[in-house]
Amino acid sequence: MKTAVISALFGAAVAASASDAATPGSDAEHSCCSALATHDALQGKVLGPDSDAYNARLKTYYSANAAQKAWCMVLPQSTADVQALAQIISSHDCPFGIKAGAHSAWKGSNGIKNGVTVDLGYMNQTTYNQATNVVSIQPGSRWGPVYETLNQYNVTTVGARTSVVGVGGFTTGGGYSFHSNAHGLAADMVVNWEIVLANGTVVNANKDENADLWKAQKGGSGNLGFVTRIDQEAIPGTLLWGGFTQYHLKYTDAVFNAYLNFTEHTEPNTADQNIVALFYDKINGTGAYAIRSILTNADGIANRSVFDEYLSIPNLGSTLTVGPESEIIPQFTGPTPLGLYANWFTGMATNSIESLKSIDELHKKYVPLMEAAAPDATFNTLIEFQPVTDTMVANGNKRGGNIMGMEPLVEGGPSLMWLLSLTVDTEEHQNSILPIARQFIDAINDKQREQNTFLNWIYLNYAWEDEAPFKHYGQKNIKLLHDVSRKYDPRGVFQKLRQTGFKLATPRCPKA
Ligand SMILES: Cc1cc2nc3c(=O)[nH]c(=O)nc-3n(C[C@H](O)[C@H](O)[C@H](O)COP(=O)(O)OP(=O)(O)OC[C@H]3O[C@@H](n4cnc5c(N)ncnc54)[C@H](O)[C@@H]3O)c2cc1C
Repeated sequence: MKTAVISALFGAAVAASASDAATPGSDAEHSCCSALATHDALQGKVLGPDSDAYNARLKTYYSANAAQKAWCMVLPQSTADVQALAQIISSHDCPFGIKAGAHSAWKGSNGIKNGVTVDLGYMNQTTYNQATNVVSIQPGSRWGPVYETLNQYNVTTVGARTSVVGVGGFTTGGGYSFHSNAHGLAADMVVNWEIVLANGTVVNANKDENADLWKAQKGGSGNLGFVTRIDQEAIPGTLLWGGFTQYHLKYTDAVFNAYLNFTEHTEPNTADQNIVALFYDKINGTGAYAIRSILTNADGIANRSVFDEYLSIPNLGSTLTVGPESEIIPQFTGPTPLGLYANWFTGMATNSIESLKSIDELHKKYVPLMEAAAPDATFNTLIEFQPVTDTMVANGNKRGGNIMGMEPLVEGGPSLMWLLSLTVDTEEHQNSILPIARQFIDAINDKQREQNTFLNWIYLNYAWEDEAPFKHYGQKNIKLLHDVSRKYDPRGVFQKLRQTGFKLATPRCPKA
């Protein structure tokens, strides 16, 4: 692990850059960054702009939109370091952002321009306690190393379906996994959160201790404190059967029907799951559509009969195989390498052929408009369909419940979560294409409303900055979040000073 040692020199470095920055925050910039850099516990852990280490951290962002140049970055290495920085941020009223694995895409999701980015990337250890069957993960880890560490114990955990995604944002925002039918979301499997509160106190939150905070943190994202350790119940075995299967577009209806039937017949606690994804890729002036499924069995059992309908559709190629989860999932890493202009949007609809077909049709209507808006752009779209099932929600409730309010989504059977990911090569091209993607999203929601297939819920981890996930959690859950926020953060530091991620719409934070 390398950090640039700035410490005592930091005051001078900040003063130089602050003189160029004609922002009203210049004094705050100097006092926040130098207070952090000169604190005993944080010596050598604060990075100033334009150092090699600072620039290297900017390159760890998945989306170039999110990679903002902070006044300074602080990289704690322990819970004690987070306690120190929390006290300084609170006492100096420092605007700040929280970055864990940096895989949220929108500008302001995890990095801050006028403030301090708290980068948890060096808190990335995983340990497993065989006696308690609890895996303890620091929030700056990515899921790939977590699975690799657990292989030696022949256990795994409810984590992301790609190796590069961060643990902190994924788990605090919910966390849809290949194990979600069998166990619920990643947050549901958390038996204890270690959280540093705004005043620097460290608390444990579990079913017996600070139980209100434990529950509110299951979907509460960055609203309540800095989560410094996630203790999750581990699950036996490491084998996953899974992979991509690509089909000719003429089989689109057959694939949609297989998706709907599979989803409709989801068995309680099953290890089987499915995803269907539509792609459009435009590279070097040529574009092509594609359709793929991702079929998985999280017990590592191949070709279960529930997949027969899918497996009977002729395909153009398939990566389906059995192996340790750590070896299977890197292929799902996503549509882009780091540093391109990625944008994610999401919504919900009924599990119906009308929902699927209308989104497919609108995709084919809006992609040509995107192409025409930026003929020289290299860009891609990915539309992913995945179910929210009764068993997934029931498993969450069995473990104490979360605050995401998903019960109405499964009252009439499973529902459809859709995700649109748009990735563009340059900011200029994005400026031309993004407004059309926004129209596409509006058109999807309008169409679902028109055909009575719209469902009013937003998944935080896939949401665009204005999709306001919390307002869909339901009144009871929102009240709990507000109550917990006031109890554990009475000054509203995580509402007023935290500038990244989604915030509760409290009177203390009118813009949220
Ligand atoms: C390629 C790819 C694959 C993905 N796959 C999945 C998937 O399989 N399932 C799924 O559900 N989602 C998936 N996602 C979405 C992902 O869950 C979110 O982007 C998530 O925010 C990523 O976590 P992170 O640690 O990288 O978050 P970051 O972007 O670093 O942080 C996002 C926000 O989370 C909060 N946060 C993070 N850490 C902490 C902490 N320690 N304490 C308090 N608040 C914190 C903060 O508000 C922060 O601003 C995927 C995203 C990508 C890009």
